[in-house]
Amino acid sequence: MFLNHYECPRCDGAWSDSWFCQVDDDCPHCGLRHVSPENSLECDDAADYAQEEAA
Ligand SMILES: [Zn+2]
Repeated sequence: MFLNHYECPRCDGAWSDSWFCQVDDDCPHCGLRHVSPENSLECDDAADYAQEEAA
C-alpha cells in the first residue's frame, strides 16, 4: 500500500489517500481531476486500508 499525499494546484487543498500504487486522484475540495501525489509513503499496515467503496 501507498499512502499518497496530494496538494491541489488549483485550490491549495490537501488530502491523503491510500492506494495500492501511486495514482492520480481527484481533488475532494474543488473537483480537479488527475492530481498527482506530492509524495507517497509505502505502508504495509492493514489498518490504513480504509478505502471507501462508495467514493
Ligand atoms: Zn482543488
